[in-house]
Amino acid sequence: MKPNHPNRKVLVTGGAGYIGSHACVSLFAAGYQPVVFDNLCNSHARVLERIGEVAGQAPDFIEGDIRDAQALEAVFRSFEPGAVMHFAGLKAVGESVERPHLYQDNNVGGTRVLLDVMQRMGVHSLVFSSSATVYGDPDEVPITEHAPRRATNPYGQTKLDIERLLETLTAKDARWRIACLRYFNPVGAHPSGRMGEDPAGTPNNLMPFIAQVAVGRRERLQVFGNDYDTPDGTGVRDYIHVMDLVQGHVDTLRLLEAGAGLHMINLGTGRGVSVLEMVNAFEAASGRRVPYEVVARRPGDIAACWADASLARERLGWTAERDLPAMCVDTWRWQQQNPRGYAED
Ligand code: NAD
Ligand code: UDP
Repeated sequence: MKPNHPNRKVLVTGGAGYIGSHACVSLFAAGYQPVVFDNLCNSHARVLERIGEVAGQAPDFIEGDIRDAQALEAVFRSFEPGAVMHFAGLKAVGESVERPHLYQDNNVGGTRVLLDVMQRMGVHSLVFSSSATVYGDPDEVPITEHAPRRATNPYGQTKLDIERLLETLTAKDARWRIACLRYFNPVGAHPSGRMGEDPAGTPNNLMPFIAQVAVGRRERLQVFGNDYDTPDGTGVRDYIHVMDLVQGHVDTLRLLEAGAGLHMINLGTGRGVSVLEMVNAFEAASGRRVPYEVVARRPGDIAACWADASLARERLGWTAERDLPAMCVDTWRWQQQNPRGYAED
């Protein structure tokens, strides 16, 4: 998009998902018009009504798969977006180990199709959901964008493959404006309590698991190891509030409007929080007890990971504003008001 270009439409692939749906709210707030394209393989159409409630307007929604070039092309023709935020993808590490081909096909294959269609339609602005998983087990923390990249599982490999694909593309064609945003650990929910994370089945991630224990859906948390080389022995991560994360995306659109090129940017708070610190913070925020037991380490887990977030501040003028208590309070509000997520009661 050119500066002051009247086209404020943004195609949001995966826009019915956890992060994409919150991004739609922030896009509306910043004067953009999100158009959601999602096959609902890991989300619910009801989220679109909730976006409407929270943002005052619901985005256009097209149900479709990013691997379907014809469907994507039709969307570009009818809505003529000026930029794409690309959230669509599968993200369960365990499932990716069992079904690596599915992850390659969906995430990498799907991104190839999207890029082809964008090229044909003359749209060259893309914000891509990458992940701190591209750093694997880091040599040092905090992690800067120059740290070596390595995949430790098939899901991480898809993020690495896509980053390389985008590097090749921008090297060949100077029209592209691309940002790979490397998320650390997104948590939290919209402060209204109307939108949040709604994982299918048993949550893989810490925060939704804790929230489901606090609300009584699960008996206790299993803490995966307390013998790591960290202050209390439990794993340390950089949790970032989803509303801060999506604000970073809107700020990135402005960066892309300013000029061509490829940006790799960490989105994190720069602060590490242990599993037990998170349990304590959630208990304080919810007033509920979160019983836990310490069990063996989870295979493939790393001890500690947090971001050097200074590049995001320099390039985007962005820093995370919401602290750990806010992450917990907002998650709890969502969990308490929607104990079964978006499912009908
Ligand atoms: P999510 O599963 O809630 O959202 C992803 C959305 O993409 C879902 O609505 C799903 O239905 C859709 N989708 C998947 N494959 C599709 C396809 N082929 N065609 C169309 N739609 C498809 O996940 P999320 O947490 O919102 O994550 C969004 C992106 O951010 C993903 O790419 C994920 O890998 C990345 N990411 C997430 C985290 C995290 O912890 N949540 C961390 C780092 C990176
Ligand atoms: N964790 C845990 N119990 C759970 C889920 C996660 O102890 O049920 C720990 C995990 O070992 C890690 C931290 O919580 O130290 C964050 O895990 P998550 O899966 O949320 O993020 P990731 O490991 O992918 O960064």
